[in-house]
Amino acid sequence: MDIICEDKAIIQPLNEDWYGGRVAAINMLRLDLVHPVISGNKWYKLKRNLQAAKDFGATQVLTFGGAYSNHLIATAAAAQAHHMPCIGIVRGLYAQNAPSVTLKTSSDMGMQLVYISTADYSRKTEPGFQQELTDKYGDSFIIPEGGANNEGRMGAADMALLIPGGYTHVCISVGTGTSFIGLRNALCPSTTVLGFAPFKGNNDFNSAIVPHLNNKTNENWHIYTNWHFGGFGKCNNILLQFMNEFYHRHGIPLDMVYNAKMMYGLKEMLSNGVFSKNARILCVHTGGLQGNSSVQDQLDF
Ligand SMILES: *Cc1c(COP(=O)(O)O)cnc(C)c1O
Repeated sequence: MDIICEDKAIIQPLNEDWYGGRVAAINMLRLDLVHPVISGNKWYKLKRNLQAAKDFGATQVLTFGGAYSNHLIATAAAAQAHHMPCIGIVRGLYAQNAPSVTLKTSSDMGMQLVYISTADYSRKTEPGFQQELTDKYGDSFIIPEGGANNEGRMGAADMALLIPGGYTHVCISVGTGTSFIGLRNALCPSTTVLGFAPFKGNNDFNSAIVPHLNNKTNENWHIYTNWHFGGFGKCNNILLQFMNEFYHRHGIPLDMVYNAKMMYGLKEMLSNGVFSKNARILCVHTGGLQGNSSVQDQLDF
């Protein structure tokens, strides 16, 4: 069952004056438009997980996330649409005292929230710990944090079906890297896939991403880590101003956690002359606009 509206995923050209003739074209694939809650890339990572849960005869799914997690809220919405009960294991007992809008909305959509300490949360991938959780909360199909499993990567590969040929570069932001892996493996080898990771330090791509890539030598992919703006979820006035300008120029809202940092990075790369004049660049807008709630009053959209 498809609960998203793929027809809405238009490819929108950015206004040329933004990149001033430095490349041939920059277009944006608007996956943010496919569903009001389930941002595009999250749906792709979830769809095969939910199917697998059904195939296994699971009666509920269980997944993990922080208080502002796009994955958690997307899972709540997708599971609800599939009439599949779901449990969200939330990082940090403190998150319970002042539940975020993300958590409240997830709970309103029927997700049972279970708060655990950050120490316990760090054991989220251990089979023994997962067993403890299912003993306590009932047999479940477990979807790892961020949908970072085989089903997630295979589903993410389907995003490539929305990307026509002829692009020299495809840009996507990187969290777990699941979407990046899916795209890199599915797109034609002559297209370079650029990932933008918005966090500081400890970027263990070699163990989390590279093993899953068909082409492990980075001839046609690269992951940039320069544009984290102080760390994951961090933001400053420069970024907020960039987001407002971007919105006024192109009519496209960006989220401050992922897509704004990617587009800011791309803009700097353009100024630095990284691309050749005939480059044709496609940026995947992965949505995540609910992540702007804490800075909403400073945004013009
Ligand atoms: C989760 C998310 C990402 C990162 O996706 P991964 O597959 O985990 O790398 C990028 N952008 C947005 C808006 C997201 O919510």
